[in-house]
Amino acid sequence: MKQGNIRISSENMMPIIKKWLYSEKDIFLREIVANASDAITKLKKLIAMGEASGEDDFRVTVTADPKAGTLTVEDNGIGMTEEEVEKYITQIAFSGAADFLEKYEKAGGDGIIGHFGLGFYSAYMVSENIEIFTKSYRDGAAAVHWQSDGESTYTIEECEKEGRGTRIVMHLAPEEKEFLKEFELRKLLAKYCSFMPYPIYLDPKGTEEDKPVNTTSPLYLKQPKECTDEEYKTFYRETFSDFNEPLFWIHLNMEYPFRLKGILYFPKVRKQVELERGQVKLYCNQVYVADNIKEVIPEYLMLLNGVIDCPDIPLNVSRSFLQNDSQVKKITKHIVKKVADKLTELFKNDRERYETCWTDLANFVKFGCLKDEDFYGKVKGLVIYKNLEGKYVPLEECFGEPVSEEDAKEGKEPKPVYYVSDENKQAQYIRMFKEAGLDAISCDTYIDPHFLSFVEYKNPTQVRFLRIDSDVAGALKEGSGEDKEIEEIFTAALKEKKITVKTEKLKNAEIPAIINVSEYMRRMSEMNSFYRMGDVPADMTLIVNTGSETVTALKEAGEEARADAAEYIYLLALMSYRQLGDEEVAAFTRLSAKMMGKYLKKD
Ligand code: ADP
Repeated sequence: MKQGNIRISSENMMPIIKKWLYSEKDIFLREIVANASDAITKLKKLIAMGEASGEDDFRVTVTADPKAGTLTVEDNGIGMTEEEVEKYITQIAFSGAADFLEKYEKAGGDGIIGHFGLGFYSAYMVSENIEIFTKSYRDGAAAVHWQSDGESTYTIEECEKEGRGTRIVMHLAPEEKEFLKEFELRKLLAKYCSFMPYPIYLDPKGTEEDKPVNTTSPLYLKQPKECTDEEYKTFYRETFSDFNEPLFWIHLNMEYPFRLKGILYFPKVRKQVELERGQVKLYCNQVYVADNIKEVIPEYLMLLNGVIDCPDIPLNVSRSFLQNDSQVKKITKHIVKKVADKLTELFKNDRERYETCWTDLANFVKFGCLKDEDFYGKVKGLVIYKNLEGKYVPLEECFGEPVSEEDAKEGKEPKPVYYVSDENKQAQYIRMFKEAGLDAISCDTYIDPHFLSFVEYKNPTQVRFLRIDSDVAGALKEGSGEDKEIEEIFTAALKEKKITVKTEKLKNAEIPAIINVSEYMRRMSEMNSFYRMGDVPADMTLIVNTGSETVTALKEAGEEARADAAEYIYLLALMSYRQLGDEEVAAFTRLSAKMMGKYLKKD
């Protein structure tokens, strides 16, 4: 038996590793199983090259022995000779961990994605002692037994072992015994090893009933043209445990200039009111790395569900490095382009389906535009809104001719696009718009105000958005209707109220007056309350319709009737704009009763 000292100062390493990786120490299982799987790949390569012989039933087994307190991972791969164990385990694995630690420390704690690259050494996060039994594929190689507590010393000696391959026996620390529970192991294998390339068996009984816990050739590795819709749906259900069918999907399948495989699914959205986070799982050569890595996948794409396998992403570098890595940028760009292409294709070739899916897509597309101008550039023509007839129209088709620079200097503004933010509250305005043959789009999701501002900002000469109640005079006026006398009647009657009075002749003669709040003022006030800068009420204007006979009749009325009618008309207009307050309801009731009394009284 040979004994040795581990040359790296590993006594200091373990406490640090344990502390930092505490919440993710279960990755040890991924690292050990991935090593086992790599060992099989290496052997298969040698066999293919004619440098090793034998076909085998390649597999990895994971066995828990609660009595002995050990967790064993065994493979029938390439194995190691004594020299190789010395070199790869005692030297490389340990120095690899030291190297990892250094990078990790530089990256400031949570730097490396999914803590990839810690390797064999990570098993010491949960083990007091680890034994390796291994036999190389080389003819006549002796089996070796290595063991170490991972801190300072190790021993290595020849041993008996049947068949080539490696068995790693982890003597778990007393507080880590949960890793011996079948349930826990199954969960971890499902998380980390679902798509690993060789069958993995958990506690096999050696009977026909033994089933691998993983899928060795996940759907995303297949050629897209060989996959059926049913297969895509099944893969979705099994991978994301979502029993709603996905709307559609994108199969990524790229070999050059980088390798990228995967499937992105557009999920059905359950709640329209908020952005629902999806899950994009990142894999590297069929080994799970982590979920929702924002350095690789833009945040808005995380509203989708997907699996992405990209062996070319350098995972053992810091996250901030990844953010600036040109290879990663290319990969991200490619994914974004594919998503935009898919949406465009659907929009062009199957508009009906696109429209049915739109409620589920809208938030994603709008959020994507706000977050990524590149994406906006690609999908801006695909944003649709419902008009007053309930038909979808592409937003860009509502734009007017661009205003020239000279015209803009003279104060000419782009053509307004009117929008409705609440069909119930704005019903009166909608009615008037419809009667006047005008249209408006319906913008009722919480993201719309941000999105519309963004679109204005990007197309300053072509569009401005005005809420349907913000440009009554501009949209609904008919000729000149200014009337000083009427204006004075109302101003006098409403002098206690915070409201400006204006007279206009409107297209609809039945509406005596209507409230108008300028778009700009309302947005300011909304912004203020959003940032909690106090409630600044937006300035209201009462547009009195001089085209209404009721209004012109005021000129002939007595003083009391004038004041009452003006207030009453004001309350009617207010009611179409917002809910009345307690005092306003009281005033409305009082005036109604008084007027009805007069109306009913017999002369
Ligand atoms: P990495 O896998 O990143 O190289 P590890 O610390 O996990 O680093 O492993 C170090 C080396 O030990 C591996 O590169 C491999 O040569 C060897 N090794 C680890 N596990 C096995 C195994 N199950 N069979 C054969 N060789 C192994």
